[in-house]
Amino acid sequence: MVSGIATSGIRPGRSANASAALVLNATYEPLCVVSVRRAAVLLLSDKAEAITHGEGYLQSHLQTIPIPSVVRLNKFVKVPHRRKVSLSRRAIFARDKWKCVYCGGPAETIDHVIPRSKGGAHIWENVVAACARCNHKKGDKTVREMGWRLAIVPAVPKGAAWRVLGHRTPDPRWELWLGARN
Ligand SMILES: [Zn+2]
Repeated sequence: MVSGIATSGIRPGRSANASAALVLNATYEPLCVVSVRRAAVLLLSDKAEAITHGEGYLQSHLQTIPIPSVVRLNKFVKVPHRRKVSLSRRAIFARDKWKCVYCGGPAETIDHVIPRSKGGAHIWENVVAACARCNHKKGDKTVREMGWRLAIVPAVPKGAAWRVLGHRTPDPRWELWLGARN
């Protein structure tokens, strides 16, 4: 008996290691991130087309398809509203590209530009990624007191990529699509 496409009927092939796929709107704007199984269902039900494949295959009892990494919806979906990016350690690192805003070294900590002890708030505009050394050196001082300069102006991240990813680390295969409309 040939049954319909059910998510449960699709399982990863031997070399499958990807777990998530990026869904693009019909306009190629990043829309959301779903499981590869969900993306496969979109493909198999002709709701989306495959744009980029990951490594490995998914098997259903009907067919074997390459693991979807990026899929594009055939029909345009209206995005209801812009979701605000929630503030998290991981999201701050991602915004600041995992670099210390003071010295450019690898970021390991989160620093409040205006220290909390001086009334600095825990908001996007006042938090930055910093290395442990700079963070320790700066302590309770302000950037001006240190005579330092910020490599970036801390702000709420904007763009489709952020709406889509939040604080998820993007698959390198998604970069082209996330960067394009940023
Ligand atoms: Zn540093």
